[in-house]
Amino acid sequence: MAKMKVQNFYEPLVMKYEEHDIPEIADNEVLVKIKAVGICGSDVSYYYGHSPLGTANGKGPLYLGHEASGVITKVGKIPAGFGLFKEGDRIAINPVQQCNACPACMRGEFNVCNHCEVIGVSVNGCFAEYVKVKFTHAYKIPDEVSFESAALAEPLACSTHGVKLLNIQLGQAVAVYGLGSIGLMMVQLARASGAGKVIAMGAHDFGLEKAKKLGATHLINTREKDSPYYTENTEKKITEINGERLPRCIVATSNMTALQDAIKITGPCSTVVYFGLPGPQDELKVPVLDAIQSERTLKFSWLAPLVWDNVFAAVASGQVKLDSIITHKFSLEDAEKGVKFMKESKENKVKGILVLD
Ligand SMILES: [Zn+2]
Ligand SMILES: [Zn+2]
Repeated sequence: MAKMKVQNFYEPLVMKYEEHDIPEIADNEVLVKIKAVGICGSDVSYYYGHSPLGTANGKGPLYLGHEASGVITKVGKIPAGFGLFKEGDRIAINPVQQCNACPACMRGEFNVCNHCEVIGVSVNGCFAEYVKVKFTHAYKIPDEVSFESAALAEPLACSTHGVKLLNIQLGQAVAVYGLGSIGLMMVQLARASGAGKVIAMGAHDFGLEKAKKLGATHLINTREKDSPYYTENTEKKITEINGERLPRCIVATSNMTALQDAIKITGPCSTVVYFGLPGPQDELKVPVLDAIQSERTLKFSWLAPLVWDNVFAAVASGQVKLDSIITHKFSLEDAEKGVKFMKESKENKVKGILVLD
């Protein structure tokens, strides 16, 4: 049987570069040769044992990696019968393979399906040379979209869903909290969705300056006192920028202080969308009387239902640029080094990916 190289995650801090069989595909699957795969914050968190895997016992062994692009090398009977795919097709992977049969799926609420198989989380993922994918979750990518950008299609899809929930009206001022890869995508998405002012709010000048290049009109550093963008009082600063509190704000960080602050800097009839990943004990304080009398909306964004087509079109047209978000590249062999780097390095970084040949 043909073999492939993989990074096999056994338990926290143990990931081994090994050789295993290339997976056999079922009739409803395609085999994908991986070209690029993102190192997600959740991969880092599995590696360090901060969150359990989606497997039955929450443990490995499992190949991590769910943000991936590649080339189809084998097509199962069903997609072959439909003439949907052929060998050599360039695709991006939607790792959240919902069941399509439960009440949530019937309503198109695929993000809350309770019977998902998630590539790289509950079944073997893309820190490997090959992965099998249900044909319904392999999406062809436009020629203009590189494999590296396509590896970021999944986080971009999640970001797109979040910004969609924000329901931006033409010209509105929008604040984006947190300038990691997701926040930097949201700055661009907010702009492309009609925002006038886009206020980037982050803890480091590196992210803020990237946000500026990607379309942010105002920068606020919330942490570094020696930063030229630092402000102690965000509420006051926002009023200076916008004349009043904001109508829209999205929070792309798990930091609960940011969410609490987002509620402070937004005004009547505003919408706040939370996109972080909080801890199990995290709670939020909402001034309820003010919230009802000013008819505020607070939403929580999870995964990426029904936005993938928009994502590919937006990247192909240049509305969203992903190149400058990728700051570090590693080989499959160096995946463990890459995962550790994303957590431990003090170097300026946004997104790390593995590039395979
Ligand atoms: Zn991810
Ligand atoms: Zn379902």
